Amino acid sequence: MEKFIRILFSPWIVSSCRACNHFLTHNEYPLCWTCERQLHKTNHFQHQFNHLFTDLSWRLPLFSAQSLTYFKQLSIEQRLLHQLKYRKSEKIGIWMGQQIAIEQGNCSFLSDVDVLLPIPMSHKSQRKRGYNQAEEIAKGIAQTLQIPIAFPLKKKHQKTSTTKKDRKSRMAVTENPFYNCSHLGTFKHALIVDDVITTGSTVAHFISALECDASTKISLVTFSHTL
Ligand SMILES: [Zn+2]
Repeated sequence: MEKFIRILFSPWIVSSCRACNHFLTHNEYPLCWTCERQLHKTNHFQHQFNHLFTDLSWRLPLFSAQSLTYFKQLSIEQRLLHQLKYRKSEKIGIWMGQQIAIEQGNCSFLSDVDVLLPIPMSHKSQRKRGYNQAEEIAKGIAQTLQIPIAFPLKKKHQKTSTTKKDRKSRMAVTENPFYNCSHLGTFKHALIVDDVITTGSTVAHFISALECDASTKISLVTFSHTL
């Protein structure tokens, strides 16, 4: 009998909102409608010269830069990113990618994107986590908009995680952790994909190691960014 009840109600038993823990209906994942409405969405996909782009473009050769949400302490965004990174919840990454794809699909200056470049993790870190969260987000975009994913760079293993360093220390890291494996190939517009952007130093290293045609436009998309 207990097994029967478990099977009958399993969608409700196993699915709860990743932010408030309320039960989810079959159309809701990973957030209930109430929590999803509370996401701190940006307007970056409506404005190419948004403040994230102007903050990065003076030092990075970017065509555009957009984040879906703002990152705030103790926010729903922080909970989702924590679960994506540390709770083996790669499906959240796919969902983030799908949310980005909805905005990207309606964005005129991203309409010619023809390749996605997720920021790589070191082989050791990825084996420990089981997946690369940036790659999961890229998969969500790729599945929705039918854009291929490429992996022209690899990342060396660093003993100290950059996520545990403060903002200043991360800026001070000068050695490029990325190295090139192959030329990107001929593409019109490459879109770098990551989960969150803070100082922009990771993206700067990624672009400096990337070998691509001079005519290839490079843009950036993330799920969240710190103000
Ligand atoms: Zn909720």
